[in-house]
Amino acid sequence: MTTTDTHARVAAANPEGRPALDFDAIVIGAGFAGLALIHYLRELGLSVRVFDRASDIGGTWTWNRYPGAATDSESYYYCLTFSPELLQQWSWTKRYPGREETQNYMRFVADKCDMWPHIQFDTEIVEAQYLAERGCWQVTTGDGDVFTSKYFISGMGMISEPMIPKIPGMDRFKGPIFHSSRWPHEGLDYAGKRVGIIGAGATTVQMLPVVAETAGSVTVFQRTPNYILPAMQKDMTPEWEKEIKDNYPAIVAKCRNHVFGMAFDGPMGRNVMDTPPAERQRIFEENWTGSFRWVFETFDDLLASPEANRIAGEFITTKMKERVNDPVLAEMLAPTFDDYPLFAKRPPLDHGYMEAFNRDNVHLVDIKKQEPLAEITETGVRTTRADYDFDIIVLATGFKAYTGALEAFPIRGNSGQTLREKWQVQSACIMGVCVAGFPNMFTVTGPQAPFANLPTSIEQNAIWISRCIDKMEREGLDIFEPREEAEREWTAATANIHGQTLMAEGDKVNSWMMGANRDDKGARVLIYFGGANLYYDTLDKSAAEGFPELEFKKLPAHEPAAAAG
Ligand code: NAP
Repeated sequence: MTTTDTHARVAAANPEGRPALDFDAIVIGAGFAGLALIHYLRELGLSVRVFDRASDIGGTWTWNRYPGAATDSESYYYCLTFSPELLQQWSWTKRYPGREETQNYMRFVADKCDMWPHIQFDTEIVEAQYLAERGCWQVTTGDGDVFTSKYFISGMGMISEPMIPKIPGMDRFKGPIFHSSRWPHEGLDYAGKRVGIIGAGATTVQMLPVVAETAGSVTVFQRTPNYILPAMQKDMTPEWEKEIKDNYPAIVAKCRNHVFGMAFDGPMGRNVMDTPPAERQRIFEENWTGSFRWVFETFDDLLASPEANRIAGEFITTKMKERVNDPVLAEMLAPTFDDYPLFAKRPPLDHGYMEAFNRDNVHLVDIKKQEPLAEITETGVRTTRADYDFDIIVLATGFKAYTGALEAFPIRGNSGQTLREKWQVQSACIMGVCVAGFPNMFTVTGPQAPFANLPTSIEQNAIWISRCIDKMEREGLDIFEPREEAEREWTAATANIHGQTLMAEGDKVNSWMMGANRDDKGARVLIYFGGANLYYDTLDKSAAEGFPELEFKKLPAHEPAAAAG
């Protein structure tokens, strides 16, 4: 894994004698976004350097090493699609690949496309600053090295910055205590140990059944119960793989044209509210085959009509409760519509979570209604009612979604203001890809982008970014300034759509989808809920119309004399 500089193009593009830049584009993050950007920007002939503080490719799949980590998208469309050959060459072993398999897939892409030389690992970027007089970005690494580039792109991920709760006494605990996305890389021997897990979101739903198999005991501290859909994992068979590979163009098109960026059918052309109860039940049952498909391939009004949502939620919780032996425990694990509607929090996919509570060594503590957390002690967790002793405590407490990674270190735009400062009240953005006041900067799946199958959204963003850069390079442009007005419009439109959805109710149950889980700022609109497909259409229209959201400029010294006259 060496790093090769490709300075040639940048150095040659300085006829005015400006100081040479190190790269055309600097990208932070060697996950799906980093790989996609290497591909699309290299096609334009750009020099690209991807920095990552991790030691390997993978992004979220490098960090989230907790037992049971797997994709919730089905494998065959949780991938990059720029190369039909790669889609044919790679073979998935399961419906939902585990962390290692996904990371291996990403290594395979990097190997096949010779991407490693563009990536510099073990390098944390601690500051990024736009230099207005040069129309470029300057980044500083943790080691104090400084690099410059014309374009600065965040591929840092929209669920990557951990949300560490402020529970008194966290520094007192004598054993290992860490966030779920910082599971020790060298592994952790939890066999026979007493494990406490704070949080009961998608991470815990994946982690618990695996940890419970060998741990002495596992205690889950749950604040809000979830609508949990079954994953229904299965092995890839030669027949299924052939069917997928024979139909890849159609699968890719399905993702591009789906509201959730997934290879699902829909819209189905029927609503819960227009369907007789018996027929409704039949459709719900027939489609109970695993994945988020159930939400999108049954009826079209589950996320729009409160009554349809309530009926769907009750179907899910009935199924959940059937799998738990103790009826009291079953009730504790299941939300109701009065708590919050289905999808106001992102539903987890289950690989045996409910059944895990039938084990003698698994316990649930309701820290919302029964015994709130009081503190962490030297030996474990104290609630208002009892002390629980542990050897290991896992904080599966979620992430500062969409903006967290962009706010974690100073990223300064043309006024010197940081993104963190700009986003105190509202996380304004244009289509999740550009921010007013931050010229020549792109964000992949930034705030106010949709929440969808991430590789699909990432690739659509990378395509839009590469089309924008292509225009600039072909037309000899130096700078793009995202227009304030375009940002106001996108932010208002996103807020308007958000307000019309049931998802808006997530702020009453701390949903990360609107940043309501953060203790450092208030809930806000973070997601474009107008449908990923319409969002991708909007990106395409923007590119086709010459990027009206951006104002393009040349640096003064770059102005050819003839054009001035
Ligand atoms: P999460 O869904 O935000 O869940 C965090 C959990 O921690 C919640 O139960 C929350 O309770 C609890 N919590 C937070 N702060 C707390 C505090 N101070 N005291 C007590 N409890 C606290 O986080 P996650 O499970 O890591 O999942 C986040 C997202 O990452 C998912 O929704 C998903 O999009 C993504 N993810 C994806 C996959 C996959 O696709 N394979 C796997 C895992 C995660 P409240 O609910 O009451 O706030």
